[in-house]
Amino acid sequence: MADDLTDIVADIVATMQGAQDRGRVAHYIPELAKVAPHHFGIAVATADGQMVTGGEADLRFSIQSISKVFALTLALGKVGDQLWDRVGREPSGTAFNSIVQLEHEQGIPRNPFINAGAIVVADVNLSGHQPRVAIGEMLRFLRYLAGDDDIAINEAVAASETASGFRNMALANYMRAFDNVRHPVELVLGAYFHQCAIEMSCRQLALAGRYLMLDGRHPDGGRVVSPRRARRINALMLTCGHYDASGDFAFRVGMPGKSGVGGGILAIVPGRASIAVWSPGLNASGNSQLGTLALEELSSRTGWSIFSPP
Ligand code: GLN
Repeated sequence: MADDLTDIVADIVATMQGAQDRGRVAHYIPELAKVAPHHFGIAVATADGQMVTGGEADLRFSIQSISKVFALTLALGKVGDQLWDRVGREPSGTAFNSIVQLEHEQGIPRNPFINAGAIVVADVNLSGHQPRVAIGEMLRFLRYLAGDDDIAINEAVAASETASGFRNMALANYMRAFDNVRHPVELVLGAYFHQCAIEMSCRQLALAGRYLMLDGRHPDGGRVVSPRRARRINALMLTCGHYDASGDFAFRVGMPGKSGVGGGILAIVPGRASIAVWSPGLNASGNSQLGTLALEELSSRTGWSIFSPP
């Protein structure tokens, strides 16, 4: 498999570098609009400890909503299943920043991966602290998972979103009215915008995702979460990780995955691989256009779909 995987990744990089339709870089966060669309990177960490990379696998990008996976993991560690009193577990069928369902559902977001749900998760992770404490905890967690201390926040991106994140302010204020956001909205959003502004490379992200391929274990032998929790997080990534395109992603790629508007995707093949791809151009649903295509190709060439027998 080793050589095969190396060849497959090299082929994917060559295809992606020649791609014409790369989608459109996110513009609603002004700082992200400055990123050039031509980038492509991929990193595959396998369960037997290999790392296969291609393209710009070591260039850092804004992880944005991929941070929601790690924030959810931390929140479940703090409050366990009580989290589900405040956040649902159903696909939303709406865009990542949608507000419409909140009125019908009494301020309870559909799932932890749409913005509304992630804002509630950020509120849980604040647990009475200043945002910098919660953010420090998140950075420490990511550095531990990736085994790499060189992971940091891009303050310009956080400031840019703080200045322009009117929809997120609306979501947070609306949920505060239902008492489903319990800290001051500025603090919760401060924590949320900073977590989204964390920068990581594909290599670092693939390393950080390994606990989800290893049934909750850190490769160093430590336990990050229980097997049941790892499976549940993977289930949520499959059903909700790509917003209203989650069905399409499952259909095309067949892996639990979480996208971000920075153009990254983390995808997990339980027992086999933790994969990160990055290409900043997005499709109409706000997911990386080439990243999705690359994962579709990888899945088809390796047979790594959770729907195919091992
Ligand atoms: N920070 C972004 C936002 O809240 C994250 C969205 C995303 O990556 N889909 O709008």
